[in-house]
Amino acid sequence: MTTAEDLIAAADAHCAPTYDPLPVVVATAEGAWLTDVGGRRYLDLLAGYSALNFGHGNRRLVEAAKAQLERVTLTSRAVHHDRFAAFCTELAELCGMEMVLPVNTGVEAVESAVKTARKWGYRVKGVPAEKARIVVAGGNFHGRTTTVISFSTDPEARADFGPYTPGFQIVPYGDLEAMRSALTENTVAVLLEPIQGESGVIVPPAGYLAGVRELTRERNVLFVADEIQSGLGRTGRTFACEHEGVVPDMYVLGKALGGGIVPVSAVVSSAQVLGVFRPGEHGSTFGGNPLACAVALEVIAMLRTGEYQAQAAELGERMHRELGTLLATGAVTAVRGRGLWAGVDVHPSHGTGRQVAQRLMDRGVLVKETHGSTIRIAPPLVIREEDLDRGLAQLSAALGG
Ligand code: PLP
Repeated sequence: MTTAEDLIAAADAHCAPTYDPLPVVVATAEGAWLTDVGGRRYLDLLAGYSALNFGHGNRRLVEAAKAQLERVTLTSRAVHHDRFAAFCTELAELCGMEMVLPVNTGVEAVESAVKTARKWGYRVKGVPAEKARIVVAGGNFHGRTTTVISFSTDPEARADFGPYTPGFQIVPYGDLEAMRSALTENTVAVLLEPIQGESGVIVPPAGYLAGVRELTRERNVLFVADEIQSGLGRTGRTFACEHEGVVPDMYVLGKALGGGIVPVSAVVSSAQVLGVFRPGEHGSTFGGNPLACAVALEVIAMLRTGEYQAQAAELGERMHRELGTLLATGAVTAVRGRGLWAGVDVHPSHGTGRQVAQRLMDRGVLVKETHGSTIRIAPPLVIREEDLDRGLAQLSAALGG
């Protein structure tokens, strides 16, 4: 019999070492639970970095995928297919926008948003050729392509990948005055995560997003919200921007849009903005394929009910209340987040984030560390209350509570 150790050793030998996974080898999963190759069960408090908002093996999503698998899975955009119009229309409607640019992964959607903003800058705003600038925030995480890491402030993400793509300006996250000073007549867009996920679930100061909205509107700059991790129910609303009553000019979506089944991502905006493209100027073989559209359509229908957002808000409140009690013990120095999403800074005397994640794994609970002393908690939105309580009790125990 092949053991977990054999499988890990083989993966280590034959896969480029870009990750350092916890030593769990998953065989099956359902809801908020994973089962490893040895039959041990783990509670998933990570949910594929929010790609699994609707849980593992969600029946509605699996059925939608199965039905589509039997019909047609891929056409390329050389022809139309019968799920495409509904996908574009319904996603645009969910976002309160008009047009969709369908791609596959998160970073591809960010790249597409950058290209859209630049093209809009030249063709609509009238920015001189090659002068377009995009303002981003320090501590951002928008993915891993060469252009996107060009505006990262994480040395690990950038080292030895230069030369970098020019045309980006980095300002401190949450600092409205810095944002005001950074905008020039050549600024085409501000690209922000409404809550910075990878950075440790950093919520900006109240009024920041609304302030950026006002500034960008005044200066004819596109406000691009990367809601790849924060969007689609995670924070208790469909979009994290809603907490400040903000509607950006462009949403960048991914992760949960594919229901944890297929990669699906998109840029969603107005016809004026996305209408800048002409045939041949951008594209993707798999973007908007029938299988992706079928799954995403079901995701959209589920989000329309509002029940997942409500569940995230309700369980999120419970989770944050519970995490707040850890602050009093001193084991935790800060808890941030919104809805069913939290960044927890562990006091150094209780080990690194990685060590806590490992201790939790030993206790049958999976979380992910980020940046040294922080762990990130983002359970599937369908987690049962008693399972959430159990996971949080294990966290408390792993921290010596
Ligand atoms: N943008 C944000 C806010 C993310 O959190 C991520 C992934 O974690 C990405 C972009 C990149 O997505 P992907 O890994 O699907 O390329």
